[in-house]
Amino acid sequence: MRCPFCQHSGRRLLESRSAEGGQSVRRRRECLNCQRRFTTYERIEFVEIAVIKRDGQREPFNRCKLLRGIVKSCEKTGIQTVRLEVLVDEIEAELQRISVREVTSSFIGELVLQHLQQLSEVAYVRFASVYRQFQGIRDFVETVHHLKENSATMGEVGSLQQPAICLEQLSPEKKAVDKLRLL
Ligand SMILES: [Zn+2]
Repeated sequence: MRCPFCQHSGRRLLESRSAEGGQSVRRRRECLNCQRRFTTYERIEFVEIAVIKRDGQREPFNRCKLLRGIVKSCEKTGIQTVRLEVLVDEIEAELQRISVREVTSSFIGELVLQHLQQLSEVAYVRFASVYRQFQGIRDFVETVHHLKENSATMGEVGSLQQPAICLEQLSPEKKAVDKLRLL
């Protein structure tokens, strides 16, 4: 590995430590030529996973894209992005554990929902609305009911109130549904 500043190949190791929850090793290095410092990471190479989309097309699993979708669902819920990165790590680890080369986008979506259910009900419904392609207000109500049943059976302390109130918290989606209904 060459120095990113001067391309010199000689360097010395300053520090080496475990990072990303033991998934990688972070090494701080110094170039022997220009003395500038840079960091390298050593990671386990994961199996490449292809995602089969709804339309049948395949694309490589993209954790950034998944994280973006989840972050969007969690806007204004007070959940920190760091927590969501951990969530994506967990999902990626789960996919690696079942070690399949191909997985459907709906399978990933359900995994995300399982995790979001414990984090935020609002995020759960938002995410479900995008990935299950909600067509109308009924889809929201059904999902909220389903969520309510689940949290009751799981004995969770949910802040879930009447579906109508939940829908009000979801104003962007509600607007989208209203728009759909006008079409
Ligand atoms: Zn250098």
